[in-house]
Amino acid sequence: MTNDELRESLLAAPKNGYAALSEEQRSEMEAYCKGYMAFMDECKTEREAVVWTVRTAEAHGFKPLTPGMEVKPGDKVYYDNRGKSILLAVIGSKSLGEGANICAAHVDSPRMDVKPNPLYEDAEIAYLKTHYYGGIKKYQWPTIALALHGVVYRKDGSVITVTVGEDDSDPVLVVSDLLPHLAADQMKKPLAEGITGEQLNVIVGTEPLTGEGSDLVKLNIMKLLNEKYGLIEEDFLSAELTVVPAGKSREVGLDRSLIGAYGHDDRVCAYAEILPLLTMDTPEHTAVCILADKEEIGSVGISGMMSLAFEYFMEMLCDAQGVKLSHCFANSFCLSADVSNAFDPNFAETCDRRNNSMLNHGVAICKYTGSRGKGGASDASAEAMGHVRTTLDQAGVLWQIATLGKVDQGGGGTVAAYMANRNIVTVDAGVPVLSMHAPMELVSKLDCYMTMLACKAIYEA
Ligand code: MN
Ligand code: MN
Repeated sequence: MTNDELRESLLAAPKNGYAALSEEQRSEMEAYCKGYMAFMDECKTEREAVVWTVRTAEAHGFKPLTPGMEVKPGDKVYYDNRGKSILLAVIGSKSLGEGANICAAHVDSPRMDVKPNPLYEDAEIAYLKTHYYGGIKKYQWPTIALALHGVVYRKDGSVITVTVGEDDSDPVLVVSDLLPHLAADQMKKPLAEGITGEQLNVIVGTEPLTGEGSDLVKLNIMKLLNEKYGLIEEDFLSAELTVVPAGKSREVGLDRSLIGAYGHDDRVCAYAEILPLLTMDTPEHTAVCILADKEEIGSVGISGMMSLAFEYFMEMLCDAQGVKLSHCFANSFCLSADVSNAFDPNFAETCDRRNNSMLNHGVAICKYTGSRGKGGASDASAEAMGHVRTTLDQAGVLWQIATLGKVDQGGGGTVAAYMANRNIVTVDAGVPVLSMHAPMELVSKLDCYMTMLACKAIYEA
């Protein structure tokens, strides 16, 4: 054999996926990404993603799963976990005792949550105080257009849905930053301290009510909120209002190969999971799709992946077939579909280039996450990785290897560990992202499309 022949047969050859993309796949990819961008424009919070998913799933024949309900192969069911997370399943022809094929993503993203007592006036400017949610670089959030999304439970028990800043005719909100002329001290601070958490106060108004009294700008804002939504100040306590970047997703690059949007992490994988499920014929193994909340703050709480809401849903399905839940889990497989960091040549020193995901190289499979010696990682076994590799190869899905940064640079985690703790074989895989957790994140259309094909292949495995 020549060296070229040996190289061809023996060595791995990471490749840009465009070379392997057929014309048909290219138009499928564009259509898929168009749908994804519309989803992103409607869903900026976990609540909005759940509303979208319920509506879309019902339009495709999914029904709410209730205790004691009979289910048969081909049935499509879902469980809306309090409007914050959602679980869906297409019942397979095999018993759940033979396990389910699960894809798990999260639909919460880093942002600024409005505090329980947020509205104040200082120097005749009215603000909302916020507490950031998830891992943000605080300096990225001032001087960009922001929108307010969320719900408020009023004293009378009625619920108000609030969305301000997304319609072209809406005002937006902004956090101010210091002018460079006076920033000599600020500019000497480390990036992490240039803007502090308590400085992430969102400007909501400056016009005072006429007449006598103090805090007339604040009072005017409260009056506006009362006129529009019937709110009083105490209602902020029973609210979940969140401040997110305003505006729609955009194609990025002169060649339009990228998508820029807020919250690709992890709605890009959530959409990849849900789409193939909607139109799925009866699979062999029951296909389960999880869109979890609270991943960005540790998967805790009733709507996070550690919640027994998952057991509640799966137990309803297992009970309907007379199968033990633990038996189902022991034979199940889970793709923890979450984003990875795409290699960024601007910050090459933070990564091991030979083990980092690249834009346009397909869905990125991550054996382990964690930090400092794999701490906190769900380190997938050789067998589990072999299963994913074989399944994706057989389905013609372009995949690549991912690790999160070079050793001892930092790290992170996903819901994988919480699935594996349940005795479910779990592997991480997802879309590579540039500028992860920034107000605008970037993904490649090709990787989005391949991740959807990967989820489809896992459901059908
Ligand atoms: Mn994520
Ligand atoms: Mn994240």
